[in-house]
Amino acid sequence: MARLSISNLTKTYDNGVKALNNISLEIESGMFGLLGPNGAGKSSLMRTIATLQTPDQGSITLNGIDALNEPEALRRVLGYLPQEFGVYPKISAEELLDHIAVLKGISKTKERKELVDYLLQKVNLYEKRKKAVKSFSGGMKQRIGIAQALIGDPKLIIVDEPTAGLDPGERNRFHNLLADVAESVIVILSTHIVDDVKELCSDMAIMNKGEIMYKGTPQNVLSEL
Ligand code: ADP
Ligand code: ADP
Repeated sequence: MARLSISNLTKTYDNGVKALNNISLEIESGMFGLLGPNGAGKSSLMRTIATLQTPDQGSITLNGIDALNEPEALRRVLGYLPQEFGVYPKISAEELLDHIAVLKGISKTKERKELVDYLLQKVNLYEKRKKAVKSFSGGMKQRIGIAQALIGDPKLIIVDEPTAGLDPGERNRFHNLLADVAESVIVILSTHIVDDVKELCSDMAIMNKGEIMYKGTPQNVLSEL
């Protein structure tokens, strides 16, 4: 079972904006929803957990691995789907996953081929594997984003604002995929859409102005609003 512990996390940007103000959270296996309006600090928290930026103070540990002292070790057990995924304009879905597998240290070609085929099937894009990621619809891009996040057997997957711009069918497919993934790893879903959290998450927190306002099950938290 995976466990993410965040304690007393604070982050102030160079321009003086305090994006995180003393955040503490314990997250265990399953899907955790981080709900909050634009500017609440969700992306700042996700980027800090993903070790893409350092906090002013506080600590983050995933299964005992300290994000501040051992960022490389943490990155090895983390999958991250950023808000804007898709900076590989010319390559196919298959090539994209293969490249990321190389970056994550899977050196054997045969092993990569098996993994890439498995992931393409898992996210239902095997038929589209030769197509350029650039030509994909929003929903397909999100699914390939989940496939890349799954490379390397992560214990935690961070998904930042995933369903913006998806049509209802794509959104449903994406939700089913996340629910499937969350059976074996922690998934943190950052969103401003209440229904996403209601439909998918076993635990949640509401963030506003850099602070955690409420945390608990969606049933309990949402009834307080
Ligand atoms: P969000 O939709 O998460 O609120 P924003 O539109 O605020 O995202 O930010 C988009 C990108 O711009 C992010 O990568 C963020 O780091 C950066 N950014 C946001 N606000 C500022 C700012 N005031 N100064 C510099 N960079 C910013
Ligand atoms: P959310 O993801 O909930 O929309 P963000 O974490 O993107 O919130 O932003 C929280 C606050 O921090 C906002 O006021 C935003 O403008 C500011 N901010 C985000 N990224 C940066 C950055 N790189 N530099 C300066 N300010 C930033």
